[in-house]
Amino acid sequence: AENLKKRKIAVLGSRSVGHCKSSLVIQFIDEQFVESYYPTIEATFAKSVKFKGAEYDCEVIDTAGQDEFSILNSKHAIGIHGYVLVYSVTSKASFDMIQIVYDKIIAFCGVTDIPCVVVGSKVDLESSRQVTPKEGERLAQEINAAWVETSAKTNFNVGKVFEVCLAEIEKRAPHTGEA
Ligand code: GDP
Repeated sequence: AENLKKRKIAVLGSRSVGHCKSSLVIQFIDEQFVESYYPTIEATFAKSVKFKGAEYDCEVIDTAGQDEFSILNSKHAIGIHGYVLVYSVTSKASFDMIQIVYDKIIAFCGVTDIPCVVVGSKVDLESSRQVTPKEGERLAQEINAAWVETSAKTNFNVGKVFEVCLAEIEKRAPHTGEA
């Protein structure tokens, strides 16, 4: 279609603790929560999304069990439009990784501003929360990113993560309607 917009979105986050990237991607793509999803070499997924009256052909890249930065050096990194940076609200360590991952992307891309959504996942585990909404929101503000809390398990705000990422991309490049 002539109005088809392709957007490439990379999902990154801490690998050592508080994992939840793959579950988020699988919930978005397949609309299911797999308790013990086994990471495979499969790293990119496709889904079309309607956003603000336009159809977006999204390519979602998951680091799929690799090192959180390896994606930046892989062939998948070519032409990434937006980034989803995921931490677990139950892990302060995973939250502390967000700034490090962000700095790495900025250095890698050689720019000062990237379309980015900071995502606090596993909000269904409220009793184990280690990161407050305020802390998440503040960090996102500091790096000029959007912020969303989500749960891949209950499918809370999962679609919103990717809509907000598209909004961040369009905000910076409102007229790129290229195929
Ligand atoms: P990845 O290594 O970052 O891709 O992490 P995974 O997506 O494989 O998730 C790691 C673990 O956290 C798995 O046992 C998931 O079932 C669990 N998990 C992921 N997202 C959620 C969530 O939103 N809620 C809960 N309760 N568990 C989650």
